[in-house]
Amino acid sequence: MCFSNSFLFIKLKNSDKLYVIIKRTEKSMQKITIYLIMLFIYTTLTMVFIAFNTVYKKKYISYICMSHVMGIITTVFTLLGNLINQSFKMHNIAVIFFLAANFFMYSAIKEFINKKLSNVEMIAAIIITVVDLSSLIFCYSISVFIHKILLMSIYIRFGMQINKYKNKSVSLGVLGCSMIIFPLIQVCFGFVWLFVTTKNYYVDLLAYILLTLTISLFIILGTLEEAKKEFSTQVNELEEKVENKKQLLEDAYKLDKLKMEFIANISHDLRTPINIIFSSIQIFEVNFPKKYNCDEKTKKYLKVMKNNCYRLIKLINNLIDMSKIEAGFFKLELHNYDIVNVVEDLTMSIVPYAEEKNIQIEFDTEFEEKIIACDKEKIERVLLNLLANAVKFTGNSGKIEVYLCEKEGNIVISIKDNGIGIDEEMQKFIYNRFTRVEGKRAKNCEGSGIGLSLVKSLVEMHGGNIKLESEINKGCKFTMTIPIKTIDEEIRHSSYFEDVKIKEVEIEFSDINI
Ligand code: ADP
Repeated sequence: MCFSNSFLFIKLKNSDKLYVIIKRTEKSMQKITIYLIMLFIYTTLTMVFIAFNTVYKKKYISYICMSHVMGIITTVFTLLGNLINQSFKMHNIAVIFFLAANFFMYSAIKEFINKKLSNVEMIAAIIITVVDLSSLIFCYSISVFIHKILLMSIYIRFGMQINKYKNKSVSLGVLGCSMIIFPLIQVCFGFVWLFVTTKNYYVDLLAYILLTLTISLFIILGTLEEAKKEFSTQVNELEEKVENKKQLLEDAYKLDKLKMEFIANISHDLRTPINIIFSSIQIFEVNFPKKYNCDEKTKKYLKVMKNNCYRLIKLINNLIDMSKIEAGFFKLELHNYDIVNVVEDLTMSIVPYAEEKNIQIEFDTEFEEKIIACDKEKIERVLLNLLANAVKFTGNSGKIEVYLCEKEGNIVISIKDNGIGIDEEMQKFIYNRFTRVEGKRAKNCEGSGIGLSLVKSLVEMHGGNIKLESEINKGCKFTMTIPIKTIDEEIRHSSYFEDVKIKEVEIEFSDINI
């Protein structure tokens, strides 16, 4: 191998032939530089489009990607054609790939403006390819006409269409304009080449490179702009949906409020007649047995009437309290109480009811006395509800354990029974209003399913919480915690020595058919 001033010679081993590889003229060096720049541009564009296509998949992006790959191959073969002594074969291959690159670009633009390639266009592409290849042998001017005038006119037509269809977007406007200007330069140079001089100025090549670049970049920009528009439309739609849902929620809230008001009104209206009936029964109970010497049956009926009055009173009280809590009118009357005393007294008050079912009650505490600020009446209601449920859902000869301790600045009160338990699925819903575990397991037990929802609200109003651990047929353990806080001014509230009201206990236990 050796270099002369302007040629590169290669002599292969065992051969007499001498191959002229590069005619190192200044002009050919210029050409090679241009093709290397083109190669660099096409490779960069291909990589950009491959990356873009993986993130934003679109058919026309794939087509442009293919067009750039064809561009790379065209440039490589043109380069080789120039290097290897103007190889005709290489030029032919380059022409095929050049036409393919343009064909893919047209397909991409068509897809971009939502149009499909027709059969006529396909046939035209094949005819152009055949004519172009044969013209390279017979009449080079035809090939120049195809490359610089015919193909470029198609770009101009597309440019006009883009300007017509998508003139609202800036990037598409620029795309349309550059698809008119750059091909127009090529057309002009085509005519100059055909009719004036065959001299190569490279301006047409530069126009072609700029055309490829602008099409690629502005199609990406146009795509991003459209994606942004799509995104904001989706955001608007979602915002509208949220607004609708908000409206629905507000309507549901209003309806619920209306329902609660209705329940509260009805409950208040029901309470008066029931109290009258209950008082009448009490008067009857006191006076009639003495006067008329009532038999056992009558006494039993009286007891049934009284018990059902209690059940109605319990239901009405719960409904009224529930509506008060919902409306935010339910207020706590906090005073300092010895919580050990409160829990113990209440537990003792239910012993007679438990004994009727032969249920053993155990009370245990970690300390003798603990003063906390609480609403005694509300805490009693909570405990009564939990204990009544424990008695209700524990079979004869069962056991209920009440335990009091302190943990992390809270009083912990747990009520554990060995009754029927609550299955895991139901445990999530147990504090919802009107939730009752249906089934034969809870036979002989009536209720409205409001109790635990009230219990939860009351415990939370004290700043505490309640949790349930349960296993089916092994029992339930409700654990409530209340923060240890006291009211500074008072040491212990004056109603400290108040007894647990028997009527309240009777009301709470009224729906146990024992
Ligand atoms: P109710 O006033 O009807 O008793 P609650 O809200 O107090 O309503 O209780 C709801 C449901 O939770 C009950 O119907 C019962 O099925 C279940 N439940 C509550 N406590 C226990 C318990 N200790 N053992 C088994 N089931 C219980």
